[in-house]
Amino acid sequence: MGSDHFVFSPAPLTAWPIEGEDRFFPVRRVYCVGRNYADHAREMGHDPDREPPFFFQKNPQNLTFDGRFAYPVATGDVHHEVELAVALSKGGEAIAAENALDCVFGYAVALDMTRRDRQAEAKKASRPWEIAKAFEGSAPAAALVPASRIGHPGNGAITLDVNGARRQEGDLNQMIWPVADVIACLSGLFTLAPGDVILTGTPAGVGAVERGDRLEAAIEGVGRLSVSVV
Ligand code: MN
Repeated sequence: MGSDHFVFSPAPLTAWPIEGEDRFFPVRRVYCVGRNYADHAREMGHDPDREPPFFFQKNPQNLTFDGRFAYPVATGDVHHEVELAVALSKGGEAIAAENALDCVFGYAVALDMTRRDRQAEAKKASRPWEIAKAFEGSAPAAALVPASRIGHPGNGAITLDVNGARRQEGDLNQMIWPVADVIACLSGLFTLAPGDVILTGTPAGVGAVERGDRLEAAIEGVGRLSVSVV
């Protein structure tokens, strides 16, 4: 449809840069996994044993690629959560775990920035998490790296430093639900499609950031992400 079919110009697609390429990954939806590393589940006061994965969403427009995180409104306690992002180039329903990695286009380092004070209020009142999770600029991310180049990382260090001090440290092999299982579970709840992105949860050590902080996130075998809090 041409632009004359709309009452105003449609919002642009979120275009995720791909490392070393001049084409972009067009983002459709952004899903996130809650409590996928046992140590983080424990630090948030939950029993990690065999709880099925649960999901929430951010907006595609919340992704940013410019290495800047603007301290958001309506909070005094924004936390960093370093996560492996998985970008899908195939989708479907009821995808079997053994076929799930065939859907993956690539991976990236991303941050699930969280208004922790607002999340605590939401949990207490049994309200949804959008205010805590799906705010402007809440998903800084590095360029995507195609799986055709790096394979499907099942282990490797995942870390986050703030101003040179290590805050978060884990290994991808500590995921309670590995990437293939996450895709399988999610495809039993939603129809997945090319362009869908999944943030796969964070290891222990989440904490607050302040304006002026420099965040350095890294995932072994995937890449790095530097973000300044402004
Ligand atoms: Mn998270």
